Amino acid sequence: MDKLYSILITGAGSGVGQGMAEAFALDGHSVIVSDLDSAAAERVAGAIQREGGRTRSLALDVTSDESIDRGLGTLQEPVDVLINNAGLQYVAPLESFPQPEWNQLIDVMLGGACRMTRAVLPGMRRKEWGRVINIGSIHALVASPYKSAYIAAKHGLLGFSKTIALETADTDITINSICPSYVRTPLVEKQIRALALEHDLPEDRVVSEIMLKPMPKGSFITIDEIVGTARFLISPAARNITGHEIVLDGGWTCR
Ligand code: NAD
Repeated sequence: MDKLYSILITGAGSGVGQGMAEAFALDGHSVIVSDLDSAAAERVAGAIQREGGRTRSLALDVTSDESIDRGLGTLQEPVDVLINNAGLQYVAPLESFPQPEWNQLIDVMLGGACRMTRAVLPGMRRKEWGRVINIGSIHALVASPYKSAYIAAKHGLLGFSKTIALETADTDITINSICPSYVRTPLVEKQIRALALEHDLPEDRVVSEIMLKPMPKGSFITIDEIVGTARFLISPAARNITGHEIVLDGGWTCR
């Protein structure tokens, strides 16, 4: 049987994080479902418990050291695997992009990954084992207009990971990023609705003519594919993969 771990996922009250929490709990791991939205985290953890999974919810804001210290201080077991997943989107041309929103995106998706990784590394070092997985994005590698904050944060995440990969290379800790193109979660549903209004198009045409257009394979990435990639990254086969990104983009970056 595969080893079982204590896995903390940020932003696990919705979307990709929720799907990963459910899948890892089904695999038998102990999953800490953390989110800024504590009610959402409780809902996800409650549903996993009813299915017999080992889990707990944790109210945790990745932009606050105090919230992170308080949250991690309540854990009974050290974190073996950290999944930096919390995220959000804001779409606007730079000239009208409000600076507070710009700062918030960077603070959640880049600062948050930094704070969380810093907080769990001492425990991982004591056990001489740990895995950090960042949920990056296709937008860690390429740009699209009007998403300057998101794209800057996600590009930054790859540089951050490479640096921490070097800093932890003396022990069995790895840090990697999974970079999917679009996944049909609440974050993307909001963008589909906004684009439909902006272009005066029905939502199915927004999906086929705008969203999935840069993807030769032309389909959304599923949460199962992200889970499968994360399973590989925590497996012994990936012991020497660190500071890398695994790109699930249906051929987007082949062009
Ligand atoms: P989502 O909106 O469904 O979920 C994001 C979660 O993050 C929410 O539950 C939210 O409460 C939480 N969150 C936001 N700010 C937080 C904070 N300060 N502290 C803790 N939690 C916070 O979005 P999703 O689509 O599941 O996105 C999850 C991750 O996947 C993000 O990092 C996103 O960039 C990435 N991603 C998503 C897609 C996609 O197409 N959906 C594609 C590539 C990458």
